[in-house]
Amino acid sequence: MPAQGWDVVVVGSGLAGLATAIAARVLGLDCLLVEKAGKLGGGTAISSGLLWIGDNHLNAAAGGTDSFDAVRAYLRYVGADGLDSARMETFAAEAPGALRFFEAAGLPFRLSPRIDHYGMAPGATNGGRLVELPAIDAAELGKWADRVLRPAGPLHRLGGREAIALGGPNRTATWDAAEEVARARPGLCGAGAGLVAWMLRAALRHGVELRTGTAAERLIMAEGRVAGIVTQDGEILSARCGVVLASGGYESNPELVDRFEALPGWQSMFPESLTGDALVMATEIGAALRVVGNNLSLFLGFRNPDEAPGGTALCRLSGTAELTAPRTIVVNRRGRRFADESFFQAVAPRLRDFDARAREQPNLPCFLVFDSGYAGAQSFAGRPPDAEIPSWVSRSASLEGLAAELGIDAEGLADTIRRFNEDAARGVDSEQHRGGTPWGLARFDPSTTLGPIEQPPFYGIRLHPTALSSAGLLADPEARVTHVRGHPIPGLYAVGNAAARTETGSGYQTGFSLASGLTFGLIAARGMARTTNS
Ligand SMILES: Cc1cc2nc3c(=O)[nH]c(=O)nc-3n(C[C@H](O)[C@H](O)[C@H](O)COP(=O)(O)OP(=O)(O)OC[C@H]3O[C@@H](n4cnc5c(N)ncnc54)[C@H](O)[C@@H]3O)c2cc1C
Repeated sequence: MPAQGWDVVVVGSGLAGLATAIAARVLGLDCLLVEKAGKLGGGTAISSGLLWIGDNHLNAAAGGTDSFDAVRAYLRYVGADGLDSARMETFAAEAPGALRFFEAAGLPFRLSPRIDHYGMAPGATNGGRLVELPAIDAAELGKWADRVLRPAGPLHRLGGREAIALGGPNRTATWDAAEEVARARPGLCGAGAGLVAWMLRAALRHGVELRTGTAAERLIMAEGRVAGIVTQDGEILSARCGVVLASGGYESNPELVDRFEALPGWQSMFPESLTGDALVMATEIGAALRVVGNNLSLFLGFRNPDEAPGGTALCRLSGTAELTAPRTIVVNRRGRRFADESFFQAVAPRLRDFDARAREQPNLPCFLVFDSGYAGAQSFAGRPPDAEIPSWVSRSASLEGLAAELGIDAEGLADTIRRFNEDAARGVDSEQHRGGTPWGLARFDPSTTLGPIEQPPFYGIRLHPTALSSAGLLADPEARVTHVRGHPIPGLYAVGNAAARTETGSGYQTGFSLASGLTFGLIAARGMARTTNS
């Protein structure tokens, strides 16, 4: 097949890929973006669509205070030992400018009312760092209107600010108003889907060429630099300035998950097209990988089969929903609790515990256990409170019966629940200090998250670990992919989750990932624009 050429070829249509493509066009480069899936948006489309950008101009305009030093202090605390200082410094310094750049490119960012997750961290602020886009009508995309991946449910029809006004993204089951909005304006895209729709609108207006259903399979080298890609159909798409790998992580590739994650029972929270193709293509030409150790972008969740009849539902996160509500606990096979369930960062490292004597991870598998009091008052799996608990959830009139159903040690479970109920009656979790950590997404205190598990029938379900990939391509502060021999591979860039998240390190803060994609996407585009002038 004859080769076709552009200045830039971008692989992947999540936030990182779309940002790179828009920036490339604004900087005068012609650009093709290829997307493997039939729809655009990847993991970005199912996300909450929030970007964490410290010391940004929107906050300053609203009278908020922040500083570069505070931003760096916060990143250092959250990122801990997984950080690459040079990448972190670049991210902190460049993200505010990237926000302005993309605003000028047609993206009407606004502040989200959300606050930093870790109030106890040096440099934390009580708001002003999370930004989002409002909901957008897909009709604005013309013939591309049905090409954005749009998850079901009201969250992805509204802007984040509106979601919070309706009661919060973790309580969608009670949002009657959202259904009305959806009925009145069926094309409305919000949260991650809205972010993708806005980015797509800007990409189209700036003249980015887009192809869906086109998977990059291999990189082409010519005269010592990456010169293009070969698609799954054998088509050669050549790139004069660079190829940008923005194809996300490997969360939906069980083989790579097994290779890099010590988390048995993993379920993917991302679309099935996230199979780590960037890692395969780039290591084939000598790229280095980096594993971000102690990756705390790790959650517990479960699949709700009703969300994908006949298919495989995404793993839905329970950390800010079921696990923060009273009358719920998480136990291991011995029936023992092992963390403050309401603070996901307390749970995450315990999932990797290893018992050297038993030669096993004691806390995987683990199980959510709750009682009828919870079922009657709270929303399970996104259902309205008091809705019937679905048949795929185990249940029994007795704790003993539930333990047998789930394969949990019955004595251990009974003992744990007896002690938990005594603590709940006193309003203090003496064992795991549930609700004791004030953090930004939940901000529960013991009185709102503790409640006895005493009312039969009792319910339980296995929880699965789900995480952002721990490993990615080793990229430098200019978003260039590093060769195993330590030098940048000419013409090859990695942005978003295709790159190891060394700029934000081990910890998880909502908005890090998308803000990184925006920032390093711009940096990659600038690097490629420089190659045309040199
Ligand atoms: C429920 C949930 C909420 C979240 N909320 C937030 C949030 O508010 N803020 C935040 O920062 N992060 C959030 N995240 C994390 C965030 O969604 C991801 O980290 C982010 O979307 C990664 O963006 P990306 O552009 O790197 O990859 P993606 O958005 O996943 O895009 C990668 C794209 O590349 C395509 N692709 C893969 N292989 C190929 C190939 N060979 N050829 C062509 N295309 C290919 C994929 O199909 C996909 O479309 C959330 C995650 C979840 C699950």
